[in-house]
Amino acid sequence: MPPINTNSVLVCVGDKCVIFDVWGRDGDWVRTINERGLNLCAIYSTHGHPDHISAAPALSARFNVPWFLDVGDFNLVGWGNDLLDYFGLPHIAPDLPKPTQMPSGRTEILPGVIMEIIPSPGHTCGSVMFWFPDYKILLSGDTIFADNIGRSDLPGGNRWQLMDSIGGLYKMNLPDDTIVVSGHGINTTIKKLKLDNPWFRAR
Ligand SMILES: [Zn+2]
Repeated sequence: MPPINTNSVLVCVGDKCVIFDVWGRDGDWVRTINERGLNLCAIYSTHGHPDHISAAPALSARFNVPWFLDVGDFNLVGWGNDLLDYFGLPHIAPDLPKPTQMPSGRTEILPGVIMEIIPSPGHTCGSVMFWFPDYKILLSGDTIFADNIGRSDLPGGNRWQLMDSIGGLYKMNLPDDTIVVSGHGINTTIKKLKLDNPWFRAR
């Protein structure tokens, strides 16, 4: 969804869908959802920075669906309006719905789609990654990118926690052909991370 910045992910089973890191304008998402005849069931955010939640509160209100965010990042909602200004997006209105606490462990987000929520603090306190074992797909948020790692100098950031979280991901020993969709930039795989990303290692 424009403006190009964050990787939002739309997952559909039949006409049911969920959205991860719903970036951009809520009106554009409403049009996409309606044009495709989809029923939005929930919204998930890997963390609470504005480029991962910009349309979440408005869509949560519009479709009356929960918006899941880890409680550690609830205090980030409404922070970082200068980034939204930069992209010409509206600020998050204070009267819109608040996030719902992220579930933990494994959850069936859509019929037959099992997702495991992996806490990965460091980029923010409440950062999480989403792992789909049946599909071998990992949504890594801003914890790790194809050839870099997330910033730890923004509110909620902690460099040592970030390195611990990346080490924890390494130790999960996910299959080499797992597709890693990060919050920004190109997709990669666990195998390519091992080869190309010097931060992806055990601690
Ligand atoms: Zn971020």
